[in-house]
Amino acid sequence: MTDTRAIPSVPVLSLGTFAGRGANLPALDDAPAMQAVTSGRIAIGMALRALGVGPGDRVLVPAYHSPSMIPPVHWRGAEVVFYRVHPDTTADLDDLARKLGPGVKAVMATHFFGFPQDLRALRALCDANGAGLVEDCAHCYFGERDGVAVGSSGDYAIGSSMKFFPIFEGGCLVSHRHALPAVPQGGGRGFEAKAALGALEASFAQGRLPILRAALALPLRLKTALWNWAKARTKARPNARGASPAPALAPSSSDSSFDFDPHWVDRRSSWFSRAVLRRAGRARLVEGRRRHYLELERALAGAPGWQPLFAALPTGACPWVFPLLADHPEALFERLRAAGVPMVRFGASLWPGVDASVCANSVALGRRLFGLPVHQELRAGERAWLAAAVRRALEETTEAAP
Ligand SMILES: *Cc1c(COP(=O)(O)O)cnc(C)c1O
Repeated sequence: MTDTRAIPSVPVLSLGTFAGRGANLPALDDAPAMQAVTSGRIAIGMALRALGVGPGDRVLVPAYHSPSMIPPVHWRGAEVVFYRVHPDTTADLDDLARKLGPGVKAVMATHFFGFPQDLRALRALCDANGAGLVEDCAHCYFGERDGVAVGSSGDYAIGSSMKFFPIFEGGCLVSHRHALPAVPQGGGRGFEAKAALGALEASFAQGRLPILRAALALPLRLKTALWNWAKARTKARPNARGASPAPALAPSSSDSSFDFDPHWVDRRSSWFSRAVLRRAGRARLVEGRRRHYLELERALAGAPGWQPLFAALPTGACPWVFPLLADHPEALFERLRAAGVPMVRFGASLWPGVDASVCANSVALGRRLFGLPVHQELRAGERAWLAAAVRRALEETTEAAP
């Protein structure tokens, strides 16, 4: 038996993806108005534009954040002002109230890690100050709290579909309060091909869909040729707007950078991603994530050197990851990495200038937090391996601690 093994860090397509019908929690795209675009950050840019955010305006953003939330604000020509969060990631409303005022056109609020927050007081503060609310549901595609569905508190809400579904690209802009026009254009043939093949390849790399893989083996070998052809065409095509360089075939969010490429504003998510979203078994997705979360919590109980970020998993929550706080994060990180445990260290790199003087809680969260995968495509054996590997790493880290 070996200690390291590759388990999928994000959901990958399987036959099970499409199993089961129905939904057991409200979803972001249940909203009456919705636009499927290529990433969450593009949806943020479009939400800010819809709120009329422009040069000279200010946008309030949690000091605990993904760096991908910032460039969309700059794209509008507006300034980012960070507000503090509490140790449990909820907004520090006193700090928010101090920073609201004339010139603040919008506030972003994030439901971190898939745990829906109560946004009533924050919403009231925004209303009292004439600021629009962008509800950031990038971690929270599904869920409700006190009967309030995620995405229904903001003027607009955004989601990162690719964080929850086995797709290569995808985000959405939704609203329960405003109409949204149809997304005007697609991403082009090269993009459509890349979106489909990207999702299939990620699945094949994890040994899922072996029969389809065998059936597609030859066509996939032609893939490189197809790429080069599509790229050459994109480059060769004269650019109507002249100055800007030929766009990449796919949004940068798909290769895990934090960039914002305005080329993808007003462009539809791929046919493949939208088809997966339409057909995916949603009850299985939500139940799978909740089950993996609870199993991990149980398996790590009593292990030294950690606390859960959240004391319990509320019934209305569908977790993005399992967030744990480590006592010795640097040492734990080395051991988890050596064991091949996939993890996200959300907030480990905050926007330049966001330090302990801006928000000590955000810096502490960024340093101590490890997000472990709980997605629906983990097999029971993979989850058991994950739990055992993390438990071992925690025990060894604590033993070695000074
Ligand atoms: C990932 C993320 C985004 C942006 O979503 P993308 O689909 O990656 O563009 C926005 N907000 C938060 C909190 C995120 O984690």
